[in-house]
Amino acid sequence: MLSNILHKIIDNCSIFNQQCQLCGLVSCAHGICPACLRLLTPLPPDSRCIRCALPLSAAGLCGACLQHPPAFDALHAPYVFCYPLDVLIHRFKYGRHIELASALGHLLCHGVTSDTSGIDVVIPVPLAKERLAERGFNQSAELARSLAGTIRSRFDPTLCGRKRNTAAQAGLDLAARRRNLRDAFCVDPAVAGLSIAIVDDVATTGETLSEMAATLKKGGPNRVLAWALSRAVAIKT
Ligand SMILES: [Zn+2]
Ligand SMILES: [Zn+2]
Repeated sequence: MLSNILHKIIDNCSIFNQQCQLCGLVSCAHGICPACLRLLTPLPPDSRCIRCALPLSAAGLCGACLQHPPAFDALHAPYVFCYPLDVLIHRFKYGRHIELASALGHLLCHGVTSDTSGIDVVIPVPLAKERLAERGFNQSAELARSLAGTIRSRFDPTLCGRKRNTAAQAGLDLAARRRNLRDAFCVDPAVAGLSIAIVDDVATTGETLSEMAATLKKGGPNRVLAWALSRAVAIKT
């Protein structure tokens, strides 16, 4: 395949390489050097909840998904939201370091498998106009664009919009998160019959992705899969 040959050339050619975004020492193709990549914590690929990706002792449904299943059909998340990925994501979002988009987009696509072949369209979690103006770019849109390129699907941020600005979810309990997101999104009827991947940078409780999926499902898509670069996992003490 031509694209495979191009990827090989890019990986081996120093003019396409950049300094590692974590250690700043090594030149590497995708922005994170192999040594720093080993510092990230992957979510276990098999022993996790098949719906929300919560680590479990064996694959199955977690208690929360048994009681209140999220509106998305499954969540794919390659990494745990912890140091040092949390630092990179924070720098990307709040430090306006858009140059991290390529490295983080590459991480999101880590472990992409052939089950993505049926995805018709990739849609980012939309940002409200006010927040977009403040931040300058939508971090989820940058990640979604990268995913769409990797799985050769269509990137379309216009199919789901944000009707109103919502308070930041951080620091809110689950009930408050749900109230905060109620009626926050709107859907384009063009989603009918499509297989959709929705993308966010972090899934904390999964409520944002679930509420967005619930809104999209009103438009009658075939399925809605959620993708997050990282997933928060409660540390057991
Ligand atoms: Zn490094
Ligand atoms: Zn679950």
